[in-house]
Amino acid sequence: MQRVRSSQSNLADVVPYDPKYLPADHLLSANENPSNVPDKVQAEIHEALKELSFNRYPDPLANELRDLIAQANGLSRENVLVGNGGDELLFNTSLAWGGPGRTFLNVPPTFSVYEANARILGTTVVDVPRTDTFALDEEAILARAKQGDIDFIIITSPNNPTGELVRTQFIEELLDSTDALVMVDEAYFEFARVTVLPLLEKHENLVILRTFSKAYSLAGVRLGYLLANPAVIREYIKVRQPYSVDAVSQAIGCAVYRNRDLFVAGIDQIIAERGKLIDRLRTLPGVEAFDSDSNYVLVRLSQAGEVWQQLYDRGILVRDFSRAPRLENCLRFSIGLPEENQALVAALEDILQARGA
Ligand code: PMP
Repeated sequence: MQRVRSSQSNLADVVPYDPKYLPADHLLSANENPSNVPDKVQAEIHEALKELSFNRYPDPLANELRDLIAQANGLSRENVLVGNGGDELLFNTSLAWGGPGRTFLNVPPTFSVYEANARILGTTVVDVPRTDTFALDEEAILARAKQGDIDFIIITSPNNPTGELVRTQFIEELLDSTDALVMVDEAYFEFARVTVLPLLEKHENLVILRTFSKAYSLAGVRLGYLLANPAVIREYIKVRQPYSVDAVSQAIGCAVYRNRDLFVAGIDQIIAERGKLIDRLRTLPGVEAFDSDSNYVLVRLSQAGEVWQQLYDRGILVRDFSRAPRLENCLRFSIGLPEENQALVAALEDILQARGA
């Protein structure tokens, strides 16, 4: 049998993204919304699907959903692009602004997919790490961007997995200091209710990424979107797969977005639970819980990898970052339903007590 020749050279050191998809009673690892789409919206979705012509290709640009999103954000259709999850739009960012001879400025620790995409496409990655408390090193980012060789930058707000918001004024300074494309990844912005959207009008180099996977309970459907100036959206349209957003996802997205008021109570609950969880975690000996403006909380504690296993043995799946660079001994807890958060704290108390004994 012939051996297959090697794939392109950038893949040699690539480790596939592994979200650690495991079964558990309490899924607190992927920052999903703990509640499914409300029944009323599910009923509307089922009606919409009855009307769907499965034999036809979908509208390539999902214009109905695009218009709904544009209207809600005071923008026009040309400012919006819908994608197959935020993940596709992140990949397309590297396709359009990265590649050999191009440079991406990353601010780790952050969502690891950014760097992976850049490397797959042969983009040079320049790191400007966050401080020990995970704050952005604003001076260093500005100084590096001003050198003029950066093609694109991604700043996550709130940052995943560390939880803090970026200052809007800093993003404005950054946009003014470089012609690089600056993406602000607002995948979790609904849990902070802070956005850099007002900057879009005066800054052609800004692009905002959002998703339906978190606040809108649609992680299983794969829908994300960009807000940007038309010149930027046009470049994204050049690299995208024409039918990446299927007709079923478009119909579901429209039903959910039209009913987005129905998600507010759930978001309020997550925000309230986040505060309670952080307070409770801070009462536990040896547990450092970082502030969070998102739907998860990062904690640092000794032997975090073992604690991850002990939680899993008790039916609770959280995210283990204990071996990730700059996140040694860190675990990330997604905010669940009140009873799930209680179960998490009770399990941790139990584990830490047994350890102390
Ligand atoms: N950005 C950030 C910061 C994320 O955490 C995620 C999901 N984990 C995404 C983007 C992509 O989300 P999705 O593909 O589900 O829209």
